[in-house]
Amino acid sequence: MSLRAAFGEIDITPPMGTQLAGWLDLARPAETVRDPVYARMALLECRGQRIAVVSLDLLSIRGSDVVDLRARIQAVAAVSPSHTMVAATHNHAGPAIISIGPYRREDAYLEWLKDAIADMAANAAARLEPAEIGIGSAFEARYCHNRRWVTRDGGTITQPGVANPDVLYCEGPADTELGVVCVRAVSGKLLGYVANWTCHPVHPYDMKTVTASWPGALASAIREREDVPCVVLNGAFGNVHTANWVDPSYVDDPDTVGRALADALPTTAAGLTFQRDVTLSAGSELLELPLRHIPEEELAWARAIVAGETAAAPEGSQRYGRDETYAESVLLVAERKRARDFSRAEVQALRIGDVALVGLPGEVFVETGLRVKVAAPFRRTFVVGAANGMVGYAPPPDSYARGGYECTTAMWSKVAPEAADMMADAGIRLSRALAG
Ligand SMILES: [Zn+2]
Repeated sequence: MSLRAAFGEIDITPPMGTQLAGWLDLARPAETVRDPVYARMALLECRGQRIAVVSLDLLSIRGSDVVDLRARIQAVAAVSPSHTMVAATHNHAGPAIISIGPYRREDAYLEWLKDAIADMAANAAARLEPAEIGIGSAFEARYCHNRRWVTRDGGTITQPGVANPDVLYCEGPADTELGVVCVRAVSGKLLGYVANWTCHPVHPYDMKTVTASWPGALASAIREREDVPCVVLNGAFGNVHTANWVDPSYVDDPDTVGRALADALPTTAAGLTFQRDVTLSAGSELLELPLRHIPEEELAWARAIVAGETAAAPEGSQRYGRDETYAESVLLVAERKRARDFSRAEVQALRIGDVALVGLPGEVFVETGLRVKVAAPFRRTFVVGAANGMVGYAPPPDSYARGGYECTTAMWSKVAPEAADMMADAGIRLSRALAG
């Protein structure tokens, strides 16, 4: 049987008053909606295999909630749990479905969300129709910038400000590839896109505003232009940002980014080759990522701060948030480490014809994502960050040595320096197995 496909799209904007997740230290009950947040999915079936790709305009999702969602999607849409990917776009202005730092999970909202996603999946399964896919990529390099800058003394500052005299050079690359799976009915009617680009989706609006940042702006530009859903998957976005630390005239505006991505997205007009018979397959590995070593001086600092004393911050640390928030978080990591010295992480690869989607459950750096893209045997590999869970930042070893925000110990930076490569290696192994 050749390919069948359907898309789903539902508005998941929370009621006002719902806690928003994304910035540390801020109580953020939603007060206004700038643009709605969505859940979207692509459902594909070929030769008896089904694959579901779900994208949420949220910060992250717990692995245990992904397990639950997969079971519900299996019940209503007959997709095997191993063949469903649930990824967050890492949006910093959506409802909190995780508890971290100062904000708590909105449990009632989360239950509602799961029901809504199951309904979306049931609805998509009922609308599967004969289809064909085209795979392509373009580049959009103007709006994603590596936010870590190496200082004159060899450390790193995250988001150093424009023309900071202490910095010497940008630590690493950006991944400017804009990947696409374009899906149309055999009649020629466009059904939707799965798009993949790599950048932190933050925003310049009021902290109590609901918005979906650049992924939402991309999807809404596509909706306006072609009236179809665009399932947006973020990449290895851990160290890249829409702001620019070189050009003082640069304006950080998510709508501009979204429109530019929509303009760059390869469409049916871009000469994509369409296929009706494609291999759909999946694999995953469950890893135990070691937790990082916490030096005695850092523990002493955390204990002092929690006790209300003053203490000098550990060298190389960079915090966005109150010392108390970080100190409590450092002690939580230490406690977790005593109880169980690893964090579970599922790495997943989905094959859709000539492309592999490699899902990594963390804030992985561009360097790690690019390593997967280079080593994977597919013509195109799209790395998906914040997929199927969240272990927090997973910087490569060199970056840990330099410090900076992403490398400063907290519950959102708790895995050891080898974790990033462990995830990348698993992604490479899985994609090789799927290509074989
Ligand atoms: Zn982040």
